[in-house]
Amino acid sequence: MDDVIELGQKSTTQILDLGKLSDHGWAGSVSANDNPVDQMSLIETLDSYYVPTNQRAKTRCIDGRHDPKFDETNLGAQVPGGAPGAALAYRLGVDKDDLTRGTFYNDAEVMIDSYLRLGLSPGGHRDDSSVGEVVGCGAIDGMDAILANMTDPALVEDHKRLVKALLDKDFDRDNYLRVLGAGLVLRSRSRGYFAGRGEILDLLEKKAPNSVSVLEGQHKESLVIVNFVPGTTLSSNRFSDEHRGAQAFGYDLWRSKQLAKSLFPLPSQEVERNRFVMARVMITIATLMTLTDGTQRLLIRAPAN
Ligand SMILES: [Zn+2]
Repeated sequence: MDDVIELGQKSTTQILDLGKLSDHGWAGSVSANDNPVDQMSLIETLDSYYVPTNQRAKTRCIDGRHDPKFDETNLGAQVPGGAPGAALAYRLGVDKDDLTRGTFYNDAEVMIDSYLRLGLSPGGHRDDSSVGEVVGCGAIDGMDAILANMTDPALVEDHKRLVKALLDKDFDRDNYLRVLGAGLVLRSRSRGYFAGRGEILDLLEKKAPNSVSVLEGQHKESLVIVNFVPGTTLSSNRFSDEHRGAQAFGYDLWRSKQLAKSLFPLPSQEVERNRFVMARVMITIATLMTLTDGTQRLLIRAPAN
């Protein structure tokens, strides 16, 4: 985790092109066809849009939309749903409680407290059209649909293929099936579990003042970038500014691994670490299945071998 890769040195990072997310026409509304970008020049220049994260900056969502307050020298890592989003991964991957009890609201509160206790800066967002129970973060508002898609038999092949591609040799079939099963059990009481999730951002704001952003405008994500280079993140505003408004979903997978190490630091907790990361990646793919039609290109940014 310490070996932050120096930016601007092409030899230290590599971009892998995994092609389109899917050819199956997912049900989400965000389509790369609406905002095409030149793939070849994109891959050559992608590294220049990555900047060092600021440890004290609030955690960001994978959402590619604009926040006028984002300052490139003060960006937090990007994960789906920000800090509250990690609560579902904990519930599905790690929690030993009965899955028939608990609420997402309580799980998110515990997760926000963990972030604060561990010195990690939590964060989340609304958007400029959020009202009432709808907060404007697709990863939070759509959580019941995300869970439904993750456990949809029609989507499971696509889902497993993509989770495997991201985890590569860390993919553990037993953990995958375990989280999938936990998701199915939780789905049976989705309404009760997710009740009150619209209040989570109020809670986040109360526990960590100034941790909630307001993103502007429409979704125009044309690609998905999964970043494995520790301590770096996508400058999403600049990316969009320089691509005629096209945006990118950015997922800093390194951050999920870092959080797993912080939450489960003991040598004996390797299983919990692996299950947490598995659940987080599974939820990320299901989030993309919910928000997009699958036409976005999937790029991986990784340390060079
Ligand atoms: Zn979001």
